[in-house]
Amino acid sequence: MKFNKKTIEDIQVKGKKVLVRCDFNVPLKDGVITDENRLVGALPTIKYLMEKGAKIILCSHLGKPKGEPKPELSLLPVAKRLSEMLGKEVVFAKDDNVVGDNAKKAIAEMKDGGLVLLENTRYRKEETKNIEDFSKELASLCDVFVNDAFGTAHRAHCSTVGVTKFVDTSVCGYLIQKELKFLGDAVENPVRPFVAILGGAKVSDKINVINNLLEKVDTLIIGGGMAYTFLKAQGYSVGTSLLEADKVEYAKEMMKKAEEKGVKFLLPLDIVVADKFSPDATPIVTEDQNVKDDYMGLDMGPRTTELFAKAIKDAKTVIWNGPMGVFEFENFAKGTFKVAEAMADSDATTIIGGGDSAAAVNQLGFGEKMTHISTGGGASLEFLEGKELPGIVALNDK
Ligand code: AMP
Repeated sequence: MKFNKKTIEDIQVKGKKVLVRCDFNVPLKDGVITDENRLVGALPTIKYLMEKGAKIILCSHLGKPKGEPKPELSLLPVAKRLSEMLGKEVVFAKDDNVVGDNAKKAIAEMKDGGLVLLENTRYRKEETKNIEDFSKELASLCDVFVNDAFGTAHRAHCSTVGVTKFVDTSVCGYLIQKELKFLGDAVENPVRPFVAILGGAKVSDKINVINNLLEKVDTLIIGGGMAYTFLKAQGYSVGTSLLEADKVEYAKEMMKKAEEKGVKFLLPLDIVVADKFSPDATPIVTEDQNVKDDYMGLDMGPRTTELFAKAIKDAKTVIWNGPMGVFEFENFAKGTFKVAEAMADSDATTIIGGGDSAAAVNQLGFGEKMTHISTGGGASLEFLEGKELPGIVALNDK
């Protein structure tokens, strides 16, 4: 996707009411934010607008309240944490209607450089259906719209796409620019060898990603739950491992395409199996790629992680999306850990495509060592598929 959108630096914001769509969809445990990557990602745009004297109205969704107020999905904890991070109060406009009297009052009282955060946009049922009423209400609050929510850029919702129809000026913030730069450069202009690692549960989620990446990479590594469909296609037995029987033919086609394109296609050589899907299941390493009846593959074995780590070591650009096993269970987290470690140790440009792999990398303490950790799992996958992201398409061209 060629990037030709106006940015916050292309417009005047002093004294203007600027509605900023952020991605504050952060994981919460007992009201505490457990991963701040998305908040940190939003700060450069917010700080720029503060310095320039805009009246900043922040909005975001959080989780899936399904069109009604759910106190446990209120953005109040985000307002509190952002206030601490910015050293300035972010006034929380508590309002079950999102755009109601409370929100309007808070905005009317705002001074230049001030900050208001609206309530979870998905408290409104119109939001995810992109219905005009709510888009108009959001637009009525502001003079200018800024989209900086990369994690939701693949969704056409009121607060990402609908609102742009009712404001004259819609531009993007720094986070979206940064995400597109790292993902775009990696995919379109990679320093080679370029290695992509895909894992996670399902082949069906990543069909177009595999197809598109095979046009770009030197090596494609497949691990995690999706590897078993490929192993099955190669004639190995997979026991009770995750298998998408209707994707076996597709898996064969992709391996054939890799061969034709001269792309190295790496699959597991050995597997960590168990007789049940449970954190206390006993891990057993297989001798080869075969999984015995009544056993399921839950992680990559040591020969596999060595193979994958070597490919990462030899690479100059690495993109990773999706865990190598059931990393939530300590006994089956090693494969994911080893890939994260190999990327952290590498001098290559290392990009983590959001979602579970981003969470895993941060939890393991490797966050700082990666070139870029995307704030958008779904959005970065759609980008890797070569799709246009509607939240970005909707913004004003330069
Ligand atoms: P995804 O949302 O597709 O990225 O998949 C992430 C999920 O895949 C994580 O919750 C992992 O536990 C799960 N996963 C990875 N490998 C396996 C496997 N071998 N068997 C079952 N689930 C897996």
